[in-house]
Amino acid sequence: MNWRDKIRAELQKRSEDDLLRQRQTLDSPQGARVTVDGKELLNFCSNDYLGLANHPRLIEAVQEGASRWGAGSGASHLVCGHLRPHEEAERRLAVFVGAEAALLFSTGYMANLALPAALLGRDDLILEDRLNHASLIDAALLSRAALGRYPHLNIRSLDERAEAHENGQVLISTDAVFSMDGNLAPVTFIDELARRVDGIAVFDDAHGFGVLGNGRGTLAQMEVRPSGSTLMVGTLGKALGLSGAFVAGDQEIINYLLQFARPYIYTTALPPSIAHAISTALDLVENEPERHAQLQQNIHQFRSAAEAANLNLMKSTTAIQPLVVGSAGKATALSEALAQGGFLVGAIRPPTVPIGTARLRITLSAAQGKEDIDHLVSVLAENIEKQDKEG
Ligand SMILES: *Cc1c(COP(=O)(O)O)cnc(C)c1O
Repeated sequence: MNWRDKIRAELQKRSEDDLLRQRQTLDSPQGARVTVDGKELLNFCSNDYLGLANHPRLIEAVQEGASRWGAGSGASHLVCGHLRPHEEAERRLAVFVGAEAALLFSTGYMANLALPAALLGRDDLILEDRLNHASLIDAALLSRAALGRYPHLNIRSLDERAEAHENGQVLISTDAVFSMDGNLAPVTFIDELARRVDGIAVFDDAHGFGVLGNGRGTLAQMEVRPSGSTLMVGTLGKALGLSGAFVAGDQEIINYLLQFARPYIYTTALPPSIAHAISTALDLVENEPERHAQLQQNIHQFRSAAEAANLNLMKSTTAIQPLVVGSAGKATALSEALAQGGFLVGAIRPPTVPIGTARLRITLSAAQGKEDIDHLVSVLAENIEKQDKEG
């Protein structure tokens, strides 16, 4: 089989297995209501948890940043692309999460990729939760260290493997809030374990930063500081409504990453307009806590309505509220039925989640209204019942 036949066969197989990924084009900005194919849909699948992606003050900050600092940064940070807004954003982010220092990355994917390759070598071991985000897995593969994956949340297995590794360093990395399940990692345990084995703990807080701990993230909520052996990765494209990411830790680790983190060094710095807007996004998170209160209320509203409707909820207390339906075909059919009913909800299928656990990944946002949430639950319940009847 030549390469062309091979890719054709792979595409064909994905399609037959109901696993073909397709994009929907939004003809509106991101938000609680979006336009797709000329139709307005209530959006329950973005990571724009606070409704900041289209917030007038954030848009204004990006515009102001572009007027003042230009459209592009023009170079990588270490050449001459590190502008004043980047420098200020790093300082502000570090203070916000209680760290000595922070380093900006272009994306969370790149921040995650940077760490193991920079910090570990051949005799070292990376331990990862089985349900970690793809970027953390890829990060391990890019490094020279061995990768061990422990069963989801299984701290005994993790502990044994960390203790058993004798020649070389151990790095433990985990989603702080699991991106497809919405539950929390045992942050305190992992943090202490890393210290006990003289290793490093990396917490990817893509879904906790801006949301939990008054916006300061999952670590702040658990009273764990990004210092010493503890590193935090926060992303700016989800709750913060922008784009980009940062690693926070002690000054020495950040100094080291500046020298050795290849996805930091060999890429163009974020547009200065985005860097400039980061402090406005942090202001909105810090000074307007009513958004968090509204998000919490919406999560509560969704869970109680879903329980009343006998929907099969997971244990999540965060903005990510998945409904596992099993087969990929079922998840896709439900997502399509919901779109007919006026809702945008993503069907998440293997390989993003384990086989047999295809799901609707419902996400809540401070921008949604109570009626919208109730309406979603009733349309969901109706369609799930219909699907069950049809077998
Ligand atoms: C989205 C996400 C990332 C990647 O962040 P980007 O800034 O979108 O590249 C990393 N980790 C987790 C857990 C995520 O959900």
